[in-house]
Amino acid sequence: MPDPSVSLQGFVFDPPPPPAVAVVGGGLFPVRRIFCIGKNYADHVKEMGGDAKSDPPVFFTKPADAVVAGDVVAFPQATDNLHYEGELVVALKSGGRDIGAVDAAAEMIFGYAAGCDLTRRDPAKQRGGPWDTAKGFDQSAPIGEILRADEAGDMSAASLTTLVNGEQRQSAPLSTMIWSVPEIIIALSKLFELKPGDLIFTGTPAGVGALAQGDRVAIKIGNLPDCCFSIGAHD
Ligand code: MN
Repeated sequence: MPDPSVSLQGFVFDPPPPPAVAVVGGGLFPVRRIFCIGKNYADHVKEMGGDAKSDPPVFFTKPADAVVAGDVVAFPQATDNLHYEGELVVALKSGGRDIGAVDAAAEMIFGYAAGCDLTRRDPAKQRGGPWDTAKGFDQSAPIGEILRADEAGDMSAASLTTLVNGEQRQSAPLSTMIWSVPEIIIALSKLFELKPGDLIFTGTPAGVGALAQGDRVAIKIGNLPDCCFSIGAHD
């Protein structure tokens, strides 16, 4: 017998609103999943104590509701070593499996945003993996507004800069990625069926570092809207 207190038609309590990111010019991009690639710039791999190109690429995920569109990110619980990682974020408008060609991968892109892969470095360093506690915590994915691909132009010609309290901490051309954006989409599609609404964080260059309460972070990439946020009081 079905539980009479549970409606067969409706939810048993109000579901949370779907995570979403604002799009330049209007509208909201509904977030389905957040995929991330690690170790995608050789100089950052070195600063983390590793070797150059990993083959195959290293992927991990964050929950969709980790996206933060607001101006303040609470300092997360359970860390003494919160790091910023400025990254180009790719937003997909279509999906697929086993994508074979660079052209087909490029056609899946809705737009781009500047984002931050916030990382609790202490659990990441202590245990190596799995990375959920280091990478998938609440508010771990601040992101700027998404610019449509046709307005963004050729992102591989742009550079990424991260400022903390106005001081430059990261600066790198996106062309120095080990795995290019289409290569990342192709590799991910061999592991997961990609779908509209997926976001992909494409890795961070050298210069990552710790954040303290009150710090102001600004991630700038080409003509994309900046990803700006402050670190608030402890969660
Ligand atoms: Mn990262």
